[in-house]
Amino acid sequence: MAGMKFDDPLTGGDLPVTRRPRLDRPGKIVCIGRNYREHARELGNEVPSEPLFFLKPSTSVIHDGDPIYLPEQSERVEFEGEIAVVVGSPLTRASENDAAKAIRGVVALNDVTARDLQKKDSQWTRAKGFDSFCPIGELSSDYSDLAALTVITRVNGVERQRASAAEMVFSIPFLLSYVSHVMTLEPGDIVATGTPAGVGSLTDGDVVEVEIEGLSRVSNPVRRSA
Ligand code: MG
Repeated sequence: MAGMKFDDPLTGGDLPVTRRPRLDRPGKIVCIGRNYREHARELGNEVPSEPLFFLKPSTSVIHDGDPIYLPEQSERVEFEGEIAVVVGSPLTRASENDAAKAIRGVVALNDVTARDLQKKDSQWTRAKGFDSFCPIGELSSDYSDLAALTVITRVNGVERQRASAAEMVFSIPFLLSYVSHVMTLEPGDIVATGTPAGVGSLTDGDVVEVEIEGLSRVSNPVRRSA
């Protein structure tokens, strides 16, 4: 992160980690679906021939320690631990090479999903878009190889998901390039790269943690909506 400006809105530059501004309102959150074969299979879906993606609203973002609220409209809310990347410079119809260079860093992200509503609705906006349905961890750029990242999800301390980015159907640079041929990605935008196998439901009182091993972590208590 050398050379970053002191007032950088994404990281705070040289500010100590605890005083850095957080990724409170990304311009957009692009989420990739079915990007791991085993996960597509566990939900009875085929792996798509090209990336499938959707948006989560910026108002769904929460941070470490904030509660995930179970909405009254859903009987089944599930965790989806994911590796997400934060875009550092604009990408429009970018090559994979340029897309890779534009990545500012990675964040652990939980693509919380009301699975029953996702099955009921042909569009996923409601199922994926409730307030508190997008926990995001701290930004990290302390890695050398995106394909070597590992995502782990734990519920009440028990490991439920673990996968390497190398297992993705579509690589991270490919995904960014692909999305940028549809919509311009701007600095601060987040792209979540899909969840591996092992998704499961959350209930009141659970604590769910998503970690990009050694780099970014977000842990959240689960509460029934008041
Ligand atoms: Mg997902």
